[in-house]
Amino acid sequence: MAEKVLIIGSGPAAHTAAIYTARAELSPLLFEGFMAGGVAAGGQLTTTTEVENFPGFPEGISGPDLCDRFRAQSQRFDVRIVTETVTKLDLSSRPFKYSTDEQEGEADTVILATGATAKRMDIPGAGDGPDGFWQRGVSACAVCDGALPMFRNQPLAVIGGGDSAMEEADFLTKFASKVYLLVRRDELRASKIMAQRAKDNPKIEFLYSTVCTAALGSDGLEKIRVKDLKTDKEREIDCLGLFFAIGHIPNTSFLDGQLDLDEQGYVLTKPGTTTTSVPGVFACGDVQDKKYRQAITAAGTGCMAAIDAEHFLASNP
Ligand code: FAD
Repeated sequence: MAEKVLIIGSGPAAHTAAIYTARAELSPLLFEGFMAGGVAAGGQLTTTTEVENFPGFPEGISGPDLCDRFRAQSQRFDVRIVTETVTKLDLSSRPFKYSTDEQEGEADTVILATGATAKRMDIPGAGDGPDGFWQRGVSACAVCDGALPMFRNQPLAVIGGGDSAMEEADFLTKFASKVYLLVRRDELRASKIMAQRAKDNPKIEFLYSTVCTAALGSDGLEKIRVKDLKTDKEREIDCLGLFFAIGHIPNTSFLDGQLDLDEQGYVLTKPGTTTTSVPGVFACGDVQDKKYRQAITAAGTGCMAAIDAEHFLASNP
Protein backbone atom coordinates (compact mmCIF):
# COMPACT_ATOMS: atom_id res chain seq x y z
CA MET A 1 0.00 0.00 0.00
CA ALA A 2 1.20 3.51 -0.73
CA GLU A 3 2.51 5.63 2.11
CA LYS A 4 0.37 8.65 2.86
CA VAL A 5 3.38 10.91 3.37
CA LEU A 6 6.96 10.36 2.32
CA ILE A 7 9.47 12.84 3.77
CA ILE A 8 12.93 13.10 2.25
CA GLY A 9 15.56 14.86 4.35
CA SER A 10 16.85 15.02 7.90
CA GLY A 11 17.23 18.63 9.00
CA PRO A 12 14.82 20.91 10.87
CA ALA A 13 12.46 21.08 7.87
CA ALA A 14 12.12 17.30 7.53
CA HIS A 15 11.67 16.64 11.24
CA THR A 16 9.17 19.45 11.73
CA ALA A 17 7.15 18.08 8.80
CA ALA A 18 7.47 14.60 10.36
CA ILE A 19 6.29 15.71 13.82
CA TYR A 20 3.27 17.55 12.38
CA THR A 21 2.20 14.79 9.98
CA ALA A 22 2.70 12.12 12.65
CA ARG A 23 0.56 14.04 15.11
CA ALA A 24 -2.04 14.38 12.33
CA GLU A 25 -2.04 10.54 12.19
CA LEU A 26 -0.60 10.37 8.68
CA SER A 27 2.10 7.91 9.76
CA PRO A 28 4.98 9.51 7.81
CA LEU A 29 7.94 7.57 6.46
CA LEU A 30 11.15 9.61 6.58
CA PHE A 31 14.33 8.86 4.63
CA GLU A 32 17.13 10.72 6.38
CA GLY A 33 19.83 9.85 3.85
CA PHE A 34 23.26 8.36 4.26
CA MET A 35 25.80 11.14 3.67
CA ALA A 36 23.39 12.54 1.09
CA GLY A 37 24.77 15.72 -0.47
CA GLY A 38 28.01 14.99 1.41
CA VAL A 39 26.37 15.81 4.77
CA ALA A 40 25.54 13.41 7.62
CA ALA A 41 21.95 12.63 8.52
CA GLY A 42 20.80 15.59 10.57
CA GLY A 43 21.69 18.04 7.85
CA GLN A 44 23.79 21.18 7.83
CA LEU A 45 23.54 21.75 11.58
CA THR A 46 25.68 18.66 12.11
CA THR A 47 28.55 20.71 10.66
CA THR A 48 28.40 23.52 13.18
CA THR A 49 29.37 23.87 16.82
CA GLU A 50 27.18 26.38 18.62
CA VAL A 51 23.64 27.37 17.64
CA GLU A 52 22.63 30.47 19.57
CA ASN A 53 19.63 31.67 17.60
CA PHE A 54 17.18 28.78 17.76
CA PRO A 55 14.46 29.75 20.27
CA GLY A 56 14.07 27.57 23.34
CA PHE A 57 17.78 27.21 24.08
CA PRO A 58 18.75 30.37 25.98
CA GLU A 59 22.24 29.01 26.72
CA GLY A 60 22.75 27.88 23.11
CA ILE A 61 23.03 24.28 21.97
CA SER A 62 25.53 22.42 19.81
CA GLY A 63 24.40 21.76 16.22
CA PRO A 64 24.62 17.95 16.52
CA ASP A 65 22.70 18.01 19.86
CA LEU A 66 19.94 20.06 18.28
CA CYS A 67 19.74 17.55 15.39
CA ASP A 68 19.52 14.67 17.89
CA ARG A 69 16.66 16.43 19.61
CA PHE A 70 14.77 16.95 16.33
CA ARG A 71 15.17 13.25 15.60
CA ALA A 72 14.14 12.16 19.11
CA GLN A 73 10.99 14.25 18.85
CA SER A 74 10.08 12.55 15.56
CA GLN A 75 10.69 9.16 17.17
CA ARG A 76 8.47 10.08 20.10
CA PHE A 77 5.59 10.25 17.60
CA ASP A 78 6.58 6.96 15.93
CA VAL A 79 7.91 8.44 12.71
CA ARG A 80 9.60 5.63 10.79
CA ILE A 81 13.12 6.87 10.07
CA VAL A 82 15.24 5.06 7.50
CA THR A 83 18.95 5.83 7.08
CA GLU A 84 18.98 5.56 3.29
CA THR A 85 19.24 8.11 0.52
CA VAL A 86 16.36 8.42 -1.92
CA THR A 87 18.02 8.06 -5.29
CA LYS A 88 15.04 8.25 -7.59
CA LEU A 89 11.50 9.59 -7.67
CA ASP A 90 8.87 9.05 -10.34
CA LEU A 91 6.45 11.95 -10.06
CA SER A 92 4.60 11.29 -13.32
CA SER A 93 1.44 10.02 -11.60
CA ARG A 94 0.02 9.36 -8.13
CA PRO A 95 0.87 7.39 -6.15
CA PHE A 96 4.43 8.62 -6.68
CA LYS A 97 7.19 6.04 -6.79
CA TYR A 98 10.46 6.26 -4.89
CA SER A 99 13.56 4.15 -4.66
CA THR A 100 16.74 3.93 -2.64
CA ASP A 101 19.64 1.52 -3.17
CA GLU A 102 17.83 -0.94 -0.88
CA GLN A 103 14.12 -0.59 -1.52
CA GLU A 104 11.32 0.99 -3.50
CA GLY A 105 7.76 1.98 -2.73
CA GLU A 106 4.91 4.37 -3.39
CA ALA A 107 3.57 7.46 -1.66
CA ASP A 108 0.50 9.66 -2.07
CA THR A 109 2.37 12.81 -1.13
CA VAL A 110 6.04 13.70 -1.00
CA ILE A 111 7.65 16.35 1.19
CA LEU A 112 11.05 17.37 -0.11
CA ALA A 113 13.33 18.63 2.67
CA THR A 114 16.69 17.68 1.21
CA GLY A 115 18.32 21.01 2.01
CA ALA A 116 21.38 22.47 0.41
CA THR A 117 25.09 22.07 0.89
CA ALA A 118 27.17 25.18 1.56
CA LYS A 119 30.14 25.24 -0.80
CA ARG A 120 33.53 25.18 0.87
CA MET A 121 36.99 25.69 -0.59
CA ASP A 122 39.83 23.29 -0.32
CA ILE A 123 42.30 25.66 1.36
CA PRO A 124 45.09 24.21 3.51
CA GLY A 125 44.13 24.74 7.15
CA ALA A 126 40.47 25.50 6.43
CA GLY A 127 39.12 21.95 6.57
CA ASP A 128 37.76 19.63 9.25
CA GLY A 129 40.05 17.52 11.39
CA PRO A 130 42.86 18.39 13.78
CA ASP A 131 44.88 20.33 11.17
CA GLY A 132 42.00 22.46 9.99
CA PHE A 133 40.23 25.45 11.53
CA TRP A 134 36.73 24.55 10.27
CA GLN A 135 34.39 25.76 13.02
CA ARG A 136 37.43 27.08 14.89
CA GLY A 137 37.42 30.30 12.91
CA VAL A 138 36.37 29.05 9.48
CA SER A 139 32.65 29.00 8.64
CA ALA A 140 30.25 29.01 5.73
CA CYS A 141 27.51 31.05 7.41
CA ALA A 142 28.14 34.60 8.62
CA VAL A 143 24.56 35.14 9.74
CA CYS A 144 24.78 31.98 11.88
CA ASP A 145 28.25 32.36 13.34
CA GLY A 146 29.22 36.03 12.96
CA ALA A 147 27.89 37.10 16.35
CA LEU A 148 29.89 34.50 18.31
CA PRO A 149 32.10 36.10 20.99
CA MET A 150 35.29 34.83 19.29
CA PHE A 151 34.68 37.18 16.34
CA ARG A 152 33.89 40.36 18.30
CA ASN A 153 36.19 43.30 17.49
CA GLN A 154 38.47 41.09 15.43
CA PRO A 155 39.64 41.27 11.81
CA LEU A 156 37.60 38.85 9.67
CA ALA A 157 37.54 37.88 5.99
CA VAL A 158 34.85 36.86 3.54
CA ILE A 159 35.54 35.00 0.31
CA GLY A 160 33.21 35.71 -2.61
CA GLY A 161 32.17 38.35 -5.08
CA GLY A 162 28.42 37.90 -5.33
CA ASP A 163 25.44 39.34 -3.47
CA SER A 164 25.79 36.88 -0.57
CA ALA A 165 29.40 37.88 -0.05
CA MET A 166 28.44 41.57 0.03
CA GLU A 167 25.63 40.89 2.48
CA GLU A 168 27.77 38.69 4.72
CA ALA A 169 30.64 41.21 4.77
CA ASP A 170 28.24 44.02 5.58
CA PHE A 171 26.63 41.94 8.34
CA LEU A 172 30.00 41.03 9.86
CA THR A 173 31.01 44.68 10.23
CA LYS A 174 28.49 44.90 13.08
CA PHE A 175 30.89 42.79 15.14
CA ALA A 176 34.29 42.89 13.45
CA SER A 177 37.02 45.48 13.76
CA LYS A 178 37.50 45.10 9.99
CA VAL A 179 36.35 42.81 7.20
CA TYR A 180 38.52 41.87 4.21
CA LEU A 181 36.53 40.88 1.16
CA LEU A 182 38.58 38.49 -0.97
CA VAL A 183 37.48 38.59 -4.60
CA ARG A 184 39.14 36.25 -7.07
CA ARG A 185 38.34 38.37 -10.09
CA ASP A 186 39.12 42.04 -10.57
CA GLU A 187 35.43 42.89 -10.51
CA LEU A 188 32.35 41.90 -8.55
CA ARG A 189 29.51 39.62 -9.62
CA ALA A 190 27.20 41.29 -7.09
CA SER A 191 24.34 43.55 -8.10
CA LYS A 192 25.19 47.25 -8.21
CA ILE A 193 23.14 48.12 -5.17
CA MET A 194 24.65 45.39 -2.98
CA ALA A 195 28.16 46.18 -4.18
CA GLN A 196 27.68 49.89 -3.49
CA ARG A 197 26.43 49.24 0.03
CA ALA A 198 29.55 47.20 0.76
CA LYS A 199 31.81 49.79 -0.87
CA ASP A 200 30.25 52.53 1.25
CA ASN A 201 31.02 50.59 4.42
CA PRO A 202 34.30 51.96 5.81
CA LYS A 203 35.02 48.72 7.69
CA ILE A 204 35.21 46.65 4.49
CA GLU A 205 38.46 46.47 2.54
CA PHE A 206 38.17 44.93 -0.92
CA LEU A 207 41.08 42.74 -2.02
CA TYR A 208 40.51 42.13 -5.73
CA SER A 209 42.32 39.47 -7.78
CA THR A 210 43.12 37.85 -4.48
CA VAL A 211 42.78 34.30 -3.22
CA CYS A 212 43.33 32.76 0.18
CA THR A 213 46.08 30.14 0.06
CA ALA A 214 46.23 29.05 3.72
CA ALA A 215 44.50 29.36 7.06
CA LEU A 216 46.99 29.61 9.92
CA GLY A 217 46.88 29.56 13.71
CA SER A 218 47.35 27.39 16.78
CA ASP A 219 44.16 26.71 18.82
CA GLY A 220 42.02 28.69 16.45
CA LEU A 221 42.40 30.69 13.26
CA GLU A 222 44.77 33.64 13.69
CA LYS A 223 45.94 34.58 10.19
CA ILE A 224 45.28 33.87 6.55
CA ARG A 225 47.77 33.83 3.74
CA VAL A 226 46.55 35.64 0.63
CA LYS A 227 47.95 35.77 -2.86
CA ASP A 228 47.62 38.65 -5.30
CA LEU A 229 46.95 36.91 -8.62
CA LYS A 230 48.31 39.83 -10.64
CA THR A 231 51.70 39.99 -8.92
CA ASP A 232 51.83 36.43 -7.55
CA LYS A 233 52.92 37.98 -4.24
CA GLU A 234 51.77 36.32 -1.03
CA ARG A 235 51.37 37.91 2.38
CA GLU A 236 49.83 37.06 5.73
CA ILE A 237 47.08 39.09 7.33
CA ASP A 238 45.65 38.90 10.83
CA CYS A 239 42.25 37.28 10.59
CA LEU A 240 40.30 35.44 13.29
CA GLY A 241 37.35 34.47 11.15
CA LEU A 242 37.19 33.30 7.54
CA PHE A 243 33.75 32.99 5.96
CA PHE A 244 33.02 31.27 2.65
CA ALA A 245 30.26 33.07 0.76
CA ILE A 246 30.60 31.23 -2.52
CA GLY A 247 27.13 29.76 -2.76
CA HIS A 248 25.16 26.63 -1.96
CA ILE A 249 24.23 23.55 -3.95
CA PRO A 250 20.58 22.59 -3.44
CA ASN A 251 20.15 18.81 -3.16
CA THR A 252 17.83 18.41 -6.13
CA SER A 253 19.81 16.47 -8.73
CA PHE A 254 17.91 13.23 -7.94
CA LEU A 255 14.68 14.93 -9.07
CA ASP A 256 15.79 14.64 -12.69
CA GLY A 257 14.00 17.78 -13.80
CA GLN A 258 10.53 16.50 -12.93
CA LEU A 259 9.74 19.61 -10.88
CA ASP A 260 10.16 23.25 -11.78
CA LEU A 261 13.47 24.48 -10.40
CA ASP A 262 15.06 27.91 -10.66
CA GLU A 263 18.26 28.46 -12.61
CA GLN A 264 20.39 27.49 -9.59
CA GLY A 265 18.47 24.28 -8.98
CA TYR A 266 16.28 25.36 -6.05
CA VAL A 267 12.73 23.97 -6.04
CA LEU A 268 10.20 26.63 -7.01
CA THR A 269 7.23 26.88 -4.66
CA LYS A 270 4.11 28.99 -4.98
CA PRO A 271 4.77 32.07 -2.80
CA GLY A 272 3.30 31.74 0.69
CA THR A 273 2.89 27.96 0.35
CA THR A 274 5.08 24.88 -0.05
CA THR A 275 3.30 23.62 -3.16
CA THR A 276 5.49 22.81 -6.13
CA SER A 277 4.74 22.44 -9.84
CA VAL A 278 3.57 18.85 -9.19
CA PRO A 279 0.34 18.58 -7.14
CA GLY A 280 0.98 16.43 -4.09
CA VAL A 281 4.69 17.26 -3.90
CA PHE A 282 5.72 19.88 -1.35
CA ALA A 283 9.09 21.47 -0.64
CA CYS A 284 10.38 23.06 2.55
CA GLY A 285 13.61 24.29 4.09
CA ASP A 286 16.76 25.28 2.28
CA VAL A 287 15.99 23.20 -0.81
CA GLN A 288 13.49 25.93 -1.74
CA ASP A 289 14.99 28.89 0.12
CA LYS A 290 18.06 30.72 -1.04
CA LYS A 291 17.34 33.83 0.96
CA TYR A 292 16.85 33.10 4.67
CA ARG A 293 18.61 29.72 5.04
CA GLN A 294 18.15 29.34 8.79
CA ALA A 295 17.12 26.43 10.98
CA ILE A 296 14.08 28.28 12.25
CA THR A 297 12.84 29.21 8.76
CA ALA A 298 13.44 25.62 7.63
CA ALA A 299 11.37 24.39 10.59
CA GLY A 300 8.67 26.96 9.80
CA THR A 301 8.30 25.82 6.21
CA GLY A 302 8.45 22.18 7.37
CA CYS A 303 5.33 22.90 9.41
CA MET A 304 3.71 24.54 6.35
CA ALA A 305 4.54 21.52 4.17
CA ALA A 306 2.94 19.15 6.68
CA ILE A 307 -0.25 21.19 6.80
CA ASP A 308 -0.26 21.61 2.99
CA ALA A 309 0.14 17.81 2.58
CA GLU A 310 -2.62 17.13 5.11
CA HIS A 311 -5.02 19.47 3.27
CA PHE A 312 -4.06 17.95 -0.07
CA LEU A 313 -4.79 14.43 1.18
CA ALA A 314 -8.13 15.55 2.59
CA SER A 315 -9.25 16.88 -0.80
CA ASN A 316 -7.46 14.25 -2.94
CA PRO A 317 -7.99 10.99 -1.03
P1 FAD B 1 19.51 20.59 5.78
O1 FAD B 1 19.95 20.94 7.15
O2 FAD B 1 20.27 21.09 4.63
O3 FAD B 1 19.43 18.99 5.74
C1 FAD B 1 18.98 18.28 4.66
C2 FAD B 1 19.57 16.89 4.76
O4 FAD B 1 18.73 15.95 4.10
C3 FAD B 1 20.90 16.71 4.03
O5 FAD B 1 21.97 17.27 4.71
C4 FAD B 1 20.97 15.21 3.94
O6 FAD B 1 21.43 14.67 5.18
C5 FAD B 1 19.49 14.83 3.73
N1 FAD B 1 19.25 14.50 2.31
C6 FAD B 1 19.61 15.23 1.21
N2 FAD B 1 19.26 14.59 0.08
C7 FAD B 1 18.65 13.42 0.47
C8 FAD B 1 18.09 12.33 -0.23
N3 FAD B 1 18.06 12.29 -1.57
N4 FAD B 1 17.58 11.30 0.47
C9 FAD B 1 17.59 11.32 1.84
N5 FAD B 1 18.11 12.35 2.56
C10 FAD B 1 18.65 13.37 1.89
N6 FAD B 1 21.07 28.07 10.99
C11 FAD B 1 20.65 28.61 12.15
O7 FAD B 1 19.46 28.87 12.30
N7 FAD B 1 21.53 28.84 13.17
C12 FAD B 1 22.85 28.54 13.10
O8 FAD B 1 23.62 28.80 14.03
C13 FAD B 1 23.32 27.95 11.88
N8 FAD B 1 24.64 27.64 11.72
C14 FAD B 1 25.06 27.09 10.54
C15 FAD B 1 26.40 26.81 10.40
C16 FAD B 1 26.86 26.25 9.21
C17 FAD B 1 28.33 25.93 9.08
C18 FAD B 1 25.95 25.99 8.14
C19 FAD B 1 26.44 25.38 6.86
C20 FAD B 1 24.61 26.30 8.28
C21 FAD B 1 24.15 26.86 9.47
N9 FAD B 1 22.82 27.20 9.64
C22 FAD B 1 22.38 27.74 10.83
C23 FAD B 1 21.85 27.03 8.55
C24 FAD B 1 21.01 25.78 8.83
O9 FAD B 1 21.87 24.70 9.10
C25 FAD B 1 20.11 25.46 7.64
O10 FAD B 1 19.35 26.60 7.29
C26 FAD B 1 19.17 24.34 7.98
O11 FAD B 1 19.87 23.21 8.46
C27 FAD B 1 18.35 23.93 6.75
O12 FAD B 1 17.56 22.87 7.14
P2 FAD B 1 16.89 21.90 6.11
O13 FAD B 1 15.96 21.07 6.94
O14 FAD B 1 16.31 22.62 4.97
O15 FAD B 1 17.99 20.95 5.51
